[in-house]
Amino acid sequence: MWLGHSCPRRPASKIKLEEGRSVNRLMATDVNTATVAAAHSCWSCGDMRAAQFCKACGKVQPPEPVDYFSFFGLPRKLNIDTSTLEREFYSLSRKLHPDIYAGSKSQEQEWSLEQSSRLNDAYRILKDPIRRTEYLLKLEGVELEGQSKAATEEARKTGEKKQIVPPDLLEEVFELNMQLEELRATKKLGEEDPALIQELQAHKQSLEMKFNTLFDELKGYWDEWDSADKCHNEQERRRVRDKMVDLLNRRSYIRNLVRDVNEVLEA
Ligand SMILES: [Zn+2]
Repeated sequence: MWLGHSCPRRPASKIKLEEGRSVNRLMATDVNTATVAAAHSCWSCGDMRAAQFCKACGKVQPPEPVDYFSFFGLPRKLNIDTSTLEREFYSLSRKLHPDIYAGSKSQEQEWSLEQSSRLNDAYRILKDPIRRTEYLLKLEGVELEGQSKAATEEARKTGEKKQIVPPDLLEEVFELNMQLEELRATKKLGEEDPALIQELQAHKQSLEMKFNTLFDELKGYWDEWDSADKCHNEQERRRVRDKMVDLLNRRSYIRNLVRDVNEVLEA
């Protein structure tokens, strides 16, 4: 069971970002404290406990707020063997089933319920490649924002925290917005413009292709992240981290664009 960091944690470094970039600093202290807390001893026999069970007597333990990687005994890496993760999830699900602890005089049933719900959360996040990346970045002190539709609309309304147009998309976005305006106007007049619709559909397709290739690019960063040593290669890790942030922002920008096109096409 992997429960800690092999080198002393330094405070999360300041992240320098362009103004308006949709990233927030997040205190990393909670996670560090939690990792240490997980090393507590078993409530029943006093031996060393793991995140869910005691290593010695096997009794279910009260939940500790460890991060999801630690919960599964995994190092904070992005390449995960998802079939092993799945097996571990089902095995823990069975072992933590609250029915097993029915009639227990201690709080074991309550703990198993809480542990089960934490297990489900951890699995849901870690099995999904994008969510896993976002979660790891959050643990590393960055948080991506404005991904939800509501957040984007709110940002548009207030004019705050506008998503920055990725430089490689500037020209395309400009042209696309013109076409969208044109189609909106056409539809308002109750007219039709099949050629324009076709153009927009082609545009949408090229955006979707770009969206998909970003995933391959991301997987390249996973390898770089996983092979950068935590203690001695902090600079490299920061570089890769910022690359991933940038990529996920671009990804969410493209997704929002596709959504805009769909809205106008379906209106
Ligand atoms: Zn024990």
